[in-house]
Amino acid sequence: MALTEQQMREIIIADRRKKKMRRRRRRKYTFFISLFLVLFFVIGLYRNRDVLAPPKLDRGVIFIDPGHGGHDPGSQTKSRKEKDDTLRIALQIKKELNKKNFKVYLTRENDRFTERIKIGKMANRKKAKLMVSIHRNKAGDPRAQGVEVFLPKDDNPKSRYLGKQIMKQLHDEGFAKRRVRSGTLVSENNEYDELSVNKMPSCLVEIGFISNKHDNKLFDKNLKGNAKAVANAIEKTYSHYYEKDKKSKKDK
Ligand SMILES: [Zn+2]
Repeated sequence: MALTEQQMREIIIADRRKKKMRRRRRRKYTFFISLFLVLFFVIGLYRNRDVLAPPKLDRGVIFIDPGHGGHDPGSQTKSRKEKDDTLRIALQIKKELNKKNFKVYLTRENDRFTERIKIGKMANRKKAKLMVSIHRNKAGDPRAQGVEVFLPKDDNPKSRYLGKQIMKQLHDEGFAKRRVRSGTLVSENNEYDELSVNKMPSCLVEIGFISNKHDNKLFDKNLKGNAKAVANAIEKTYSHYYEKDKKSKKDK
């Protein structure tokens, strides 16, 4: 059957229209795919900005001591050891402090033992401006919970300020408050070895009880938040004592 001229024209027009639609659709897809790729790339850059522009680390040295290690597990329960908890959170605190441009030294970054008396000496050698020793508590009574902070026995105001800030910030993360006090658990006239020879403000913080379910949950589920809390407390103390001039200059 032969087509009339009119029919032929209609077929050609319909064909052209189809091609046009297809081209339009293709253009639309290309646009969205390109947009997606660009977004993907930008988000990737944003997330890796620390790699592209490493923190300057020009704000002074902070010394963090992940308590215990190696043959000394610290407090233990059936399922966990204090030395693992302290290392886990200390590494995270380091990350958070690096983001704030602090240079951070840790007593250890793996499962290693250091004599407690040597820890303060290490902090002195690194010329640390502040030092925090991280521990976890344990009690016979499984109901015992909360944060406890120990200061050097001279109870110097800078160490007390640091300890109070840490207590406050961790309390904001849900931990119960116990005490900020000088000396050791058994004696006010004694002090923990790691706080006895260091020259900078320092404290030892027990981040909850390893023997308390609630504290362990708070510790595990919010590891990053807790690390941030400690880092914020350190930053606040640091700027309070070491960046006063900078602040007042900025204010002028
Ligand atoms: Zn301990």
